[in-house]
Amino acid sequence: MSTPDLFASEPPAPWSPTDFAAAVLDWFDRHGRKDLPWQHEPTRYRVWVSEIMLQQTQVAVVIPYFARFMTRFPDLASLAAAPLDEVLSLWSGLGYYARARNLHRAARTIVESHGGRFPDTLETVEALPGIGRSTAGAILSLADGQPHPILDGNVKRVLARCFAVDGWPGQSAVLKRLWQLSERCTPHQRTGAYNQAMMDLGATRCTRATPDCAHCPLAAHCQALHQGRQRELPAPRPRRTLPERRTRMLVVRDDTGAVLLERRPASGIWGGLWSLPETDPGHDPTDWCLARFNSTPDTVETLRGRRHTFTHFVLEIEVVQLRLSAPATTVNEADRCWVGPEERATLGLPAPVASILDQD
Ligand code: SF4
Repeated sequence: MSTPDLFASEPPAPWSPTDFAAAVLDWFDRHGRKDLPWQHEPTRYRVWVSEIMLQQTQVAVVIPYFARFMTRFPDLASLAAAPLDEVLSLWSGLGYYARARNLHRAARTIVESHGGRFPDTLETVEALPGIGRSTAGAILSLADGQPHPILDGNVKRVLARCFAVDGWPGQSAVLKRLWQLSERCTPHQRTGAYNQAMMDLGATRCTRATPDCAHCPLAAHCQALHQGRQRELPAPRPRRTLPERRTRMLVVRDDTGAVLLERRPASGIWGGLWSLPETDPGHDPTDWCLARFNSTPDTVETLRGRRHTFTHFVLEIEVVQLRLSAPATTVNEADRCWVGPEERATLGLPAPVASILDQD
C-alpha cells in the first residue's frame, strides 16, 4: 500500500499502515486489556452500553455502573420495556444524562423498527439516537470484528501525536485528517483487537498530561516524541469564558422530613430527572411558600451553595431550606412528589441535587 502523503513526514522514518497496525496489535497481545466486563460475551448490546458509558468517563468508574445496568437490563428487550425513570436512576452519578435518554430511546427504536434485533450495518447503527460514526464502528468491530475505523478521544490523541497533526480536533479540517489516518491505519483483520488496543494505548500510555513514551510501542516512529511536542498535541480547544447563570434551589421539608422534588421537563439540562424546586435568586422564598402552600415556612435557612459546570455555561446555585411545620397538603403528582431518603435513592437525581440532599 502506498500512502506517501500521510506517512512520509520524516524524520523519524516513515512506516507503512501495515507496520503501524502490527506494532499496535503486538502490544495488544502482550499488554492490552482483555478482561473488562464488556469483553466477556461481547454482544452488540453489551458493547453498545459500555461504549456509551465510557464516553467522557473512565473505565474504573464505569465498571460498577455497567454491572448494575446489566443485572437490571440483561438484554435490549428489558431496557426497551423499562420506564425511563428507572434507566435514569441507574445512571445517576455518571452525568451527561442525554446518554441515558438516548440509550433508552435507541432501545425502543430497535424494538419498533428492527424487530428487537440490534442492527449490524454501520449506516443503520449510526442512525440510532446517540450513536456517532466512531461509536458505531466500535460496536461493530468489537462485537463482530467488522473492519470499521474508530476515532474517539483516545484515538484522536494517539494519531495526532504519532503523525504530528496540528490544530484542535474539533475543527472539521483537523477531524477529517484524523479520520483519514484512522482509516488508513485500521487493519481489515483483527479490527476489534486493533481498535481496543488504540483506545487502551490512549488511556494507559499516551495519556493527555503524562504520556509514557518509554513504554509505548509507537515511540520509534512517533513524530510528536521526535519533535518534543507530546504535551502540545493535540491542540486544546480554544479557550473561552463560559457564561454564568444563577438559580436558587429550595429544599422544602415537611414535618416528617420528606423533601419536595419536581421532575424536570424531558428536554433541556437534566431532562427527565427529579430535581429541587427552583426560583429566581431575587424572589423571596417565603412568598414562594405562601403561593404554593398557603402558609409560611417555620424556618428559612441558607445552606452551602453549589457551582456546576456544563459544556456551555456555569450554573451558580444558591440553596435555601424551608421547613414546614404542618404536613404537606400537596398530594404526589406525576411530576411532583414528597420523598424520604429511601425513596430518593431510587430516583435519578442530578449530581449537585444529590450532593445538596446528602449534606444533612
Ligand atoms: S511515543 Fe509518546 S506521544 Fe507518541 S504515541 Fe507513544 S505515548 Fe504518545
